[in-house]
Amino acid sequence: MSQTATSGQPVPGDVLDRLKALVGPGGYVEGPEDTSAYSRPWRGKWEGRTPLVLRPKSTEEVAAIVRLCAETRTPIVPQGGNTGVTYGGLPSADMSEVVVSTSRMRRVRDLDSLNDTMTVEAGVVLKEIQTAAANADRLFPLSLGAEGSCQIGGNISTNAGGIQVLRYGNTRNLVLGLEVVLPDGRVWDGLRGLRKDNTGYDMKQLFIGAEGTLGIITAAVLRLFPKPTEAQSAWIAVDSPKAGLDLLVHMKGAMGEAITSFELIRRSIIEFLLTGVPGHSDPLPQAHPWYVLMEVTGQGAVGSLSEPLTEALESAAGKGLVRDAVIASSSEQAKRLWRMREDLPDAQKAAGGSIAHDVSVPLSRLAEFIARADDAIEKAYPAVRPCCFGHLGDGNLHYNPLCPVDWTYERYAVETAAINRLVHDIVAAVGGSISAEHGIGRLRLEENLRYKNPVELDLMERMKRALDPLNIMNPGRVVPDQR
Ligand SMILES: Cc1cc2nc3c(=O)[nH]c(=O)nc-3n(C[C@H](O)[C@H](O)[C@H](O)COP(=O)(O)OP(=O)(O)OC[C@H]3O[C@@H](n4cnc5c(N)ncnc54)[C@H](O)[C@@H]3O)c2cc1C
Repeated sequence: MSQTATSGQPVPGDVLDRLKALVGPGGYVEGPEDTSAYSRPWRGKWEGRTPLVLRPKSTEEVAAIVRLCAETRTPIVPQGGNTGVTYGGLPSADMSEVVVSTSRMRRVRDLDSLNDTMTVEAGVVLKEIQTAAANADRLFPLSLGAEGSCQIGGNISTNAGGIQVLRYGNTRNLVLGLEVVLPDGRVWDGLRGLRKDNTGYDMKQLFIGAEGTLGIITAAVLRLFPKPTEAQSAWIAVDSPKAGLDLLVHMKGAMGEAITSFELIRRSIIEFLLTGVPGHSDPLPQAHPWYVLMEVTGQGAVGSLSEPLTEALESAAGKGLVRDAVIASSSEQAKRLWRMREDLPDAQKAAGGSIAHDVSVPLSRLAEFIARADDAIEKAYPAVRPCCFGHLGDGNLHYNPLCPVDWTYERYAVETAAINRLVHDIVAAVGGSISAEHGIGRLRLEENLRYKNPVELDLMERMKRALDPLNIMNPGRVVPDQR
């Protein structure tokens, strides 16, 4: 890829003035104090700096901004809720990029309960979408720890996953149509609520997961589902990841489509949760090496899944797959169990920090991956403590070895590249992906060059050049500027 004309140079003052004039007072923030929240990550150490954060309130304003940026070769960083963890939505430190935040585009434009769709602007917070769907007696199933802050434009741009992918698929499966401002400032209106449309290439799929490198998503048509009337959660002790996988097969046979979530959690991280994060207690009387947290949902009467779940777990115990289990006896208890899962990132912090990996592997090789990665880490770094949890049903693990007890995190962080190489080489060897749901952003850019199929990389670069020949749209993320 070629570099942008203004690459590395601060955005000139006259361009900033013209951009500000497009959105008027209230439509932008500037100065180090007011822009810092848009320049730093929720987690991690990235310190960006931008001369200007634009906060357009309509698609027309976004298009006007992009047209001016194209004319002046000014790089743009689209940003939603800024909860992304690969730094794709953060500006460089050299004041050469303007941030375009969608946080004022917060309208639910339409809810069509006959078509089971909702049309929303990019800046609507995920939690608000879930609530709007629930108020219409529907479900929007995307659910993740950052749902109170992340925005649907960011979710679509990262093709976010979360805890219900097993049943409903990831964000890619939940989007029927998009409205996008292209890098030349044209608006593509693809806001169609169609489940079938074979009129050529499916353009929306290009923008889903593109992390803002091909255009700015301004609105989307989302799929809605029947709201479950019944839900049961269980915390289950298993001996090993292999036992967890065998349990998944067993439960799918017994309960089929009812299984919405199937999470794997290693005991070591539960220890840190119980000691380091207030408000949690052990759901079972004894410690076990691994746990599964699962949820089943359905449309039947309240309590109707309790007996089938109990029977399925009892027959699994009869096969030696389950060591102990508790089924939540109330929605409050179920919430407590799921809060344990949500607070695992805080438990990692309480344990001194981790080196994070968001990997996916075929289910048939998941147990092998964990065993090989554990072995390799232990040989190279005997003091590093294991930590692993994730969406077992999707083959997606957060394999996050913890900082040794007597090391500072700064000392541990020096090993990041070496530990990444060690873990990701094993991921590649078992046919997996180095980024299951968090994207590439800036953080995984170099590593992706090592693992991504070269033909796919070439196609990605050609698409980027075709849609964004000036390379102004989130340059240097996902696709490298120069190779
Ligand atoms: C506590 C916590 C838990 C999390 N759990 C999960 C999880 O379970 N599963 C998961 O997948 N992720 C998870 N994440 C990561 C994060 O929440 C998701 O990646 C989320 O989808 C990002 O949304 P956002 O609005 O914050 O996007 P941002 O962080 O603002 O941006 C992310 C990327 O999308 C681009 N972008 C944003 N908006 C637009 C737009 N309108 N048009 C074009 N490009 C855009 C940005 O440039 C950037 O590259 C978690 C994060 C936290 C902090």
